[in-house]
Amino acid sequence: MLAPAPSAAQYRGMPHVIVQNCCNDASCVPECPVDCIHPTPDEPGFATAEMLYIDPDVCIDCGACIDACPVSAITTDYELTDEMAPFEEINAAYYRAVGSAADLDHPYADPQLGRRRPASDAEPLSVAVVGAGAAGHYTVSELQHRIDVRAEIDVYERLPEPGGLVRFGVAPDHADTKKVQEQFAAARGRSGVTVHLGVSVGENVTHEELARTHHAVVYAVGALHGRPLPLPGGDLPVVAAAADFVAWYNGHPDFAGHPFDLSHERVVVLGNGNVALDVARVLTADPELFVGTDMSDEALAALRASRVREVVVLARRGADHAAFTAPELVGLARTVPVVVDAADLSDLGAEPADPQAAHYVRQKLELLRDLAAAPSPAPDARRVVLRFGTPPTAVTEATGGAVVEFDEHGTPSSLECGLVLAAIGLRGTSVPGVPFDEAGGIIPNADGRVLGSDGAPLPGVYTAGWVKRGPTGVIGTNRYDARSTVDALVADFHAGLLSAE
Ligand code: NAP
Repeated sequence: MLAPAPSAAQYRGMPHVIVQNCCNDASCVPECPVDCIHPTPDEPGFATAEMLYIDPDVCIDCGACIDACPVSAITTDYELTDEMAPFEEINAAYYRAVGSAADLDHPYADPQLGRRRPASDAEPLSVAVVGAGAAGHYTVSELQHRIDVRAEIDVYERLPEPGGLVRFGVAPDHADTKKVQEQFAAARGRSGVTVHLGVSVGENVTHEELARTHHAVVYAVGALHGRPLPLPGGDLPVVAAAADFVAWYNGHPDFAGHPFDLSHERVVVLGNGNVALDVARVLTADPELFVGTDMSDEALAALRASRVREVVVLARRGADHAAFTAPELVGLARTVPVVVDAADLSDLGAEPADPQAAHYVRQKLELLRDLAAAPSPAPDARRVVLRFGTPPTAVTEATGGAVVEFDEHGTPSSLECGLVLAAIGLRGTSVPGVPFDEAGGIIPNADGRVLGSDGAPLPGVYTAGWVKRGPTGVIGTNRYDARSTVDALVADFHAGLLSAE
């Protein structure tokens, strides 16, 4: 683990610390009177930030950010639990890498400045928002916070329950992260919003019907499915998308009864993003950790009966390109033994030129070196093995499971297992009647305006979230993504480009 930093509290106040479940929605940023939380949404590093950070040398211990955080991810340093202790250093290290918050001159811009209230008899803006996940809810709340329109919003959700990937994608043991749903419920509950659950656009109602009856339709349908594994044997029944496994253990109705073979001692996960770490943690953690969470009874029973002892995560590139974030690696290592081979951590490429990106690489390598130096887990302990520079080449079926073939520093190698989970990224969900870019797995758009086959914007059709920009960033990243879509939509409304029956 990272060595604890000399506590800033020793020389000034009790600074605050942002911990693992930061959702990056930056609600805390405008509340801070001394501008000590970065990167802010208007700073270049925001889009690629693993989390937000408080500068301990600038924080004045006022507590305003604690109240503003929707997921309880901010605490004072004296209240840090042992488990969260590494985050004191993770916050401080960010400012050593990018410079003091006192010198980062990026005042958070109020998007409402310069706008005027509509006349009381002005036509309301009617919007259909399709998808009740993070992007859909942020679209609703961005419309509600506009003072220059009065929006009447219909939310359509295919499932009988709202929440999208916050409900069915966030790991069940990340209860604090799921608290953002309280903010979503508040947005849904405001006047002017009607929620239609269990209504599938393209099946129960068509895109044309929504487009005709609203000024605008915003598709915020997310990215539920994993990308197909482009390998020989990638479509064998023993290979499943990690995204399907996540949806199954979270009780997604589409995946109830889905078979996942947990009778073999080993599972191989391909790809090493945060989804890979989530499934590796869930497969090796004590199942009792998930009692009383969103995990389905079916998944809890299967994990209790599981014979899986080892999850091997194979990454095709070196450790300096690891796709997981440092907070999630800290969370994994806190839960189960993580095995790393020190040999995988030498002979790496040059650091990125960007200070924030370089800081993230250094921080992950430091954490991995600590793990490599830790004593081996007891022989019978469940563990996660992280391997790097091991591109998979094929999957073949074998008695009782599968063999994953991969390249290990130029030498062919293989591993037997009972289940292969492909955690190689997600794909946006297509909607009948709405353009879809099959290669990119997104709805083609420019600033959220959906583009037709001729490349021109389709009047009144918009998109937000992962199906707009691809599956990147964390929950709160979708807030600023939704804001840019709403900016385009409202501009088109004021320009007289939108009509509704
Ligand atoms: P991801 O972060 O994009 O990682 C994809 C991984 O798959 C990378 O290691 C990538 O390797 C690898 N990969 C891609 N194509 C491959 C191929 N053909 N063969 C082998 N490996 C391949 O995707 P993700 O894990 O699905 O996560 C999606 C988003 O959700 C991310 O923004 C993530 O941070 C977020 N998320 C966050 C949390 C959290 O904060 N707790 C939890 C879950 C998900 P290369 O790097 O070499 O391409």
